[in-house]
Amino acid sequence: MQRRNILVVGAGPVGAVAALACARLGHRVVLLEAQERIDDSPRASTTQPPTLEILAGLGLIEEYLRVGLVSRTFQFWDRGTLTRIAEFDFERLRGETDFPFVVQTEQHKLANMAIGRLRGMADAQVVLGFRVVDLEEKSDHVVVSCDNGERFSADYVIGADGGRSTVRKLLGIEFEGYTWPERFLVITTKFDFAAALGCCFRNYMADPDEWTNLFKVAGDDLKGRWRAVYNTRKDETDEEALSEASVRARLSRIYVPESQRDYLHLNLYNVHQRVARHFRKGRVFLCGDAAHVNNPIGGLGLNSGIHEAWDLASLLDKVIKGEATEEILDTYEARRRPLNIEYVQEQTVANKKRLEEREPAQRAKRFQELREMADDPARHKAFLMKASLLESTRRAIRT
Ligand SMILES: Cc1cc2nc3c(=O)[nH]c(=O)nc-3n(C[C@H](O)[C@H](O)[C@H](O)COP(=O)(O)OP(=O)(O)OC[C@H]3O[C@@H](n4cnc5c(N)ncnc54)[C@H](O)[C@@H]3O)c2cc1C
Repeated sequence: MQRRNILVVGAGPVGAVAALACARLGHRVVLLEAQERIDDSPRASTTQPPTLEILAGLGLIEEYLRVGLVSRTFQFWDRGTLTRIAEFDFERLRGETDFPFVVQTEQHKLANMAIGRLRGMADAQVVLGFRVVDLEEKSDHVVVSCDNGERFSADYVIGADGGRSTVRKLLGIEFEGYTWPERFLVITTKFDFAAALGCCFRNYMADPDEWTNLFKVAGDDLKGRWRAVYNTRKDETDEEALSEASVRARLSRIYVPESQRDYLHLNLYNVHQRVARHFRKGRVFLCGDAAHVNNPIGGLGLNSGIHEAWDLASLLDKVIKGEATEEILDTYEARRRPLNIEYVQEQTVANKKRLEEREPAQRAKRFQELREMADDPARHKAFLMKASLLESTRRAIRT
């Protein structure tokens, strides 16, 4: 068994970025992925400024910008009346970051891009179709076994194998939190909401019964398409949510005329708010959805996973090169877990509440708060510093 410095489990966007970050620091890396190809279902696309800074550090930013859409603003809407409540502009972050905008690039593009780079590096190996089923920690390394009987050994292991993480389960780490009773339905359509309603590329539409988040992404053909994300009713079956009639009815509620209610894809997701009790056990670390999951309103989950991957790569680098002792590895959980709770869990729960507020007076108050915040330059910027995760990233550097 050839021994590597770092073995990464899961070639989703977080695992692929973690492996690339470690390989670029000069380490011998192997990335193991259970599937034969990277999952391209419509999940994350919104890439926040601090994540763009990391992608620049990895030498991926030009390619990333080429296959995505730059979005300077996001808007809140009242869905019932289809009127805009407030707009926030990332240009207010100029001076804080080299990237005062988000980029809408689908997550499978990032994973494939990072894998492409790894394949060109002599000390990096990407293995698809190998499912990790066991881990054995020895005194100075870890042995990882796959379902086909293959075994690998490494000084350290990064479990980036998603929300249902086998690595987390093998470590016996609890995934604390809860699952929302409703599911989120994603309808992908070519209907042009910018032309029809004046939407920007990221729109959050509040409604007490059924809210909608509306995003534009480039698509693999770069021709552009929209993703409309809805909550399902708590008593709605999968069959009903995915039925032609209910999908067309949902599109009608965001203006789409009868003749244009055809759609490209439908996806239904269970949604959770959970954080692993620990992000590390011995030589094994959790990163990305393996460590935490959240509702996608605000576009934060994947972003925080990439921040962790970058942070962890730098800590492991220092230890492997003998520039720091192993104690430094304790800072990973000590720093990242509270940051995820404060900036990702709390914000995404608040974002969901803002969209679904039922009580009319409270709803009017929330809309008014958004208008006032958008109109006040200092509060506008402070809101964006938090919503973009720039504030959490700056805090991470200090802790
Ligand atoms: C509708 C929706 C929209 C979203 N939008 C955003 C957004 O705009 N911005 C944002 O930041 N986040 C968003 N998210 C969240 C984002 O999709 C996740 O945070 C992201 O997928 C996490 O990436 P990951 O690499 O940690 O895990 P995953 O993408 O789940 O990848 C895990 C990988 O590990 C592999 N794997 C699993 N088990 C094993 C095993 N035993 N051995 C080997 N490999 C294994 C899997 O096959 C998979 O390839 C959204 C989520 C949803 C559902």
